[in-house]
Amino acid sequence: MRLWSRELWRLAWLAALGASVGWLLGAAGLGLAVGLAVCLFYHLRQLRALYQWLTLHPHDEPPAAQGMWGEMFDRLYRYQKSQRITQNRLRATLARIQESSEAMRDSVVMLDRHGDLEWWNSAATNMLGLQTAHDRGQHITNLLRDPSFISYFNACDYSEPLTLRSPIDERCILQYQITLYGDDERLVMARDITRLHRLEQMRRDFVANVSHELRTPLTVLSGYLETYSDLAEQLPPRLGKGIHQMQEQTQRMQNLVNDLLLLSRLEIDQGGKDHHPLLMAPLLQSVCNDALALSHQRHSITVAVESDARLLGSEQEIRSAVSNLAFNAVRYTPPGSHITLRWKALPDGGGCIDVEDNGEGIDPVHIPRLTERFYRVDKGRSTATGGTGLGLAIVKHVLLRHDAQLQIESHPDKGAVFRCVFPASRFLLSETYA
Ligand code: ADP
Repeated sequence: MRLWSRELWRLAWLAALGASVGWLLGAAGLGLAVGLAVCLFYHLRQLRALYQWLTLHPHDEPPAAQGMWGEMFDRLYRYQKSQRITQNRLRATLARIQESSEAMRDSVVMLDRHGDLEWWNSAATNMLGLQTAHDRGQHITNLLRDPSFISYFNACDYSEPLTLRSPIDERCILQYQITLYGDDERLVMARDITRLHRLEQMRRDFVANVSHELRTPLTVLSGYLETYSDLAEQLPPRLGKGIHQMQEQTQRMQNLVNDLLLLSRLEIDQGGKDHHPLLMAPLLQSVCNDALALSHQRHSITVAVESDARLLGSEQEIRSAVSNLAFNAVRYTPPGSHITLRWKALPDGGGCIDVEDNGEGIDPVHIPRLTERFYRVDKGRSTATGGTGLGLAIVKHVLLRHDAQLQIESHPDKGAVFRCVFPASRFLLSETYA
C-alpha cells in the first residue's frame, strides 16, 4: 500500500511540476501533458523490461528497478525460483519411481482415465509386447485383445486377479492385477506365474493319477472282501469282525478316491459343455428321495420349489452338489430333524438353492474354513458318518463353474442353511427359455 501511494505521489508530483513549468512559460495545459507523458514513458519502459526478461532471459536475475516495479520483479523472481525447485524435486521423484519400476521383474503399465497407455516399464515390453514408439496413447484393449482381459478391464471389479497366457508367448502364463488410483487412472501389473502354474498343474495331475491308480487295487480288494464276508459266519468271530472292518475301510477309501477324481475333473476340465436349462422340481425331488434312503426315514425331508424358473447348468454337477449338501444334512443332524431343499428367486434377479436343517448347527468360527479340503468340524464324527472331508470342496468347485457361490449361515443349536447363490444370467424365467 505504501508503494502504491508513493507511485501516486510520483504521478501527482510530475503532473504538478509539468503544470508549474508550463504555467511559467504560459502553457500550463501543455506542461501538465508533458509531465503525464514522462510518467507514462517511465511505466512503458518498465513494462518492456519485464516483457524482455520473461521472454528472453527468464532464468537470469530480474532487471533493476525501483518502487512498485522493483518489488514486482523481486516477487516474480522469487516465485519462479520456488517453482523451479518444486519442479526439480518432482522430476527427481518421478525419475526414481520410473527407475524402481524399471528394475521390477513384473510389468507395470500406467493408463490415463480413458484407458490409454501413458507409460510402461521394459518388463511390459518383454511380457506384453508394448512398443514405445507407436503404442503410447493407444487404448489398452487395442493391444491386449483377449476377450477375457477386455471383459475384466471393462467390468471395473478388480478384487480378484486374472490369469491369462501372454499375448506374445503362448508358453508364458501371466497374472494381471489392475489398481484404480487418482482420477480414475489405472495401473496394470502383470506377473509371470508360469512356474507356479506348472507346479499347480503337476499337483493336479499327481492327485488325479494317484487316485486313478488306486482304483484298480481297491476294486480287487473290495471284491475279495465281499466274497470272504459271505463266508464270515464260518470263520472265527474275531476274523469275521476283521473282515467287516476291512470292508468298511475299503469302502471309505473308494469314496475318497472317487471324490478326489471328481475334484480333479472339476479342476482340469473347463466345463460348460453340458449346461442346459434344468427343471428344478424333479431334480430336488430325486435328491430328496436319495437323502431319505440314506437317512432310513429317520429324518423328515421336504422339497419347496418357490419359483418355476429353470437353472442354466450341468444336471450331473448340480445334482452332485445338492446331494452332497443334503447328505451332509442327514449325516450331521440327529434323527427326527427336519431338512428342506428349496429353490427360490432372489431380489437381485438371480436364484438360490437352499439346503436347510434344524440340527445342531456349526460354530461360526469353523464356517470360513468349511470348504477347505479335508477340513472337518469334528473329525471323529465325520469319519464315523463316512465323510471324506471333500464334500463341500466339491460343492464349491461346482458352484464356481456355474458363476455361483456358497453361503453358509449357521449357529450352534440353531441349524444350518447352505445356500447356493446363482446370478441372474443362470436364473431363466419361463419367457427366457420358452
Ligand atoms: P465330510 O465329508 O467330512 O462331510 P464336508 O466337506 O462335506 O466333509 O463337510 C465338512 C464339515 O462340515 C463336516 O465335517 C461337518 O462337520 C460340517 N457340516 C457339513 N454340513 C453340515 C450340517 N448340515 N450340519 C452341521 N455340520 C455340517
